Amino acid sequence: MPDVRRGLIIVNTGPGKGKTTAAMGTALRAVGQGMRVLMLQFLKGSWHYGELDAVKAFGDRFLMKQMGRGFVKVGAEKPDPEDVRLVEEAWAEGALAINSRKWDLIILDEINYAISYGMLDPAKVAEILKNRPPMVHVILTGRNAHPIIVELADTVTEMRQVKHAYEKGVEAQRGIEY
Ligand code: ATP
Ligand code: MG
Repeated sequence: MPDVRRGLIIVNTGPGKGKTTAAMGTALRAVGQGMRVLMLQFLKGSWHYGELDAVKAFGDRFLMKQMGRGFVKVGAEKPDPEDVRLVEEAWAEGALAINSRKWDLIILDEINYAISYGMLDPAKVAEILKNRPPMVHVILTGRNAHPIIVELADTVTEMRQVKHAYEKGVEAQRGIEY
């Protein structure tokens, strides 16, 4: 196993399912290696996600925080100013966390989505990522990752949808979707 550790920028994007859950899988792996993980959820969904309760077992080694409101209108021509404010607040906290040297892995969940809706400037995000402490790993999830972020990243995975149960009318399932 290589002993040289360096921080990576990882992007999970694309239309298929698995972006957020893959980030949580990495978080579990990192916590198992004695690392400290912070996950900030931009634009939180309307469900109570199972992972919010599950991570409590890890104490302050794995913290998860929901930063947005319960519901964000998808595809609205113009984002609600209140949602923009919440995204900016989430980003301010994310930027501080990245530079705090308190966390080994920081997950910015759905940040790509916030950027693609024009709620957050990708250049500002790139600036902080570039100048972060060198050992810090950052995962950015969400559809439509911005080209500036993709360019900067070390590892980029695009989830491709082959099938989704939703297409045949199956509602979101507890423990799978939330
Ligand atoms: P997950 O959280 O399951 O890893 P994701 O992060 O890749 O999914 P998001 O774009 O964040 O996907 O979507 C949020 C919710 O919508 C999740 O509950 C997810 O399971 C569900 N979902 C993801 N992809 C699809 C799809 N192609 N069709 C319908 N629902 C989807
Ligand atoms: Mg997601």
